Amino acid sequence: MKSAAFDYVKPGSLTEALGVLAEAGEDARLIAGGQTLLATLNMRLSEPSVLIDITNVEELKGITLDGKHLRIGALVTHTEIEESDLIAKHAPLLKAAAPHIAHRAIRNLGTWGGSLAYGDPAAEWPACSLALNATMIIHSPSGERRVAASDFFIDLYTTSLEPDDILVATEIPIADSAQVFCFQELARRHGDYAVAGLAAVAQKQGDMLTQCKFIFFSVGATPLMAGKTQSWIDGKNLNEQLIVDAVKTAREEIEVIADLTNSAEAKQHLVGVLLERALKQMMA
Ligand SMILES: Cc1cc2nc3c(=O)[nH]c(=O)nc-3n(C[C@H](O)[C@H](O)[C@H](O)COP(=O)(O)OP(=O)(O)OC[C@H]3O[C@@H](n4cnc5c(N)ncnc54)[C@H](O)[C@@H]3O)c2cc1C
Repeated sequence: MKSAAFDYVKPGSLTEALGVLAEAGEDARLIAGGQTLLATLNMRLSEPSVLIDITNVEELKGITLDGKHLRIGALVTHTEIEESDLIAKHAPLLKAAAPHIAHRAIRNLGTWGGSLAYGDPAAEWPACSLALNATMIIHSPSGERRVAASDFFIDLYTTSLEPDDILVATEIPIADSAQVFCFQELARRHGDYAVAGLAAVAQKQGDMLTQCKFIFFSVGATPLMAGKTQSWIDGKNLNEQLIVDAVKTAREEIEVIADLTNSAEAKQHLVGVLLERALKQMMA
């Protein structure tokens, strides 16, 4: 199928883009890498009257180190994240996750901001942004606001972005030397969306993990934080029994939803498998 007809504009600055978006109203769509939006247009799942191409907006580009935070512009592509030395050093979870996103051709065009804004529960970046305590920097005609990742993903494909908002960048606290992380994903073939995945981050002190963040994705309507499991592990010596108990806690607390090919029971089982692998890797 072909998309319905639409007008196309390509603003050259953030101010201009916000102005065009405000004027066009709810009938407009931003387009970044187009790797999700173009498919929904061609299937006529979305029929905007105006496409606003933001790829010339400099304010949305680049990865920079700003004191104790990394700033990742919304237009940074998945490949740029995969290949960035700053990311490898200060947010290694993202480097580990990037190769799991689709295939290289899609990673060359698809963007960090497009993935977060779309809010696909099976996507890697929403889960990673939660695990890393990211802050979303959002601009609208009324100014800038900052939203914690924990308040950003609201429901299936639904974020706290309003129709006149542009996600400009994300700030992530940089990793310190005690931080350990693990990215685990189970997919039918490499490059497919995950059947289930886990982004895990913690501080390691001897045999103990503290400040644990375990975020499961592709199991519910949004990425899901395993709060009880995190508390269960936090500050205790990690041993075989603790891992068995943590796996049981995670399977009980994560409310999984079946998808078209995987039952809820299968996903619940995988939640435990991913957690066990992650804990063993983080303590190794
Ligand atoms: C075959 C295939 C396989 C894929 N596999 C995976 C996968 O395994 N994992 C994964 O995570 N993704 C996967 N994707 C999706 C891909 O990662 C997309 O690039 C990403 O989801 C969206 O980024 P984009 O820049 O292409 O956004 P676009 O398609 O341009 O836009 C997506 C949505 O976000 C909005 N948007 C974009 N930028 C902004 C912004 N700055 N502020 C506010 N709203 C904005 C748009 O209006 C639109 O609604 C796959 C895509 C394809 C085609």
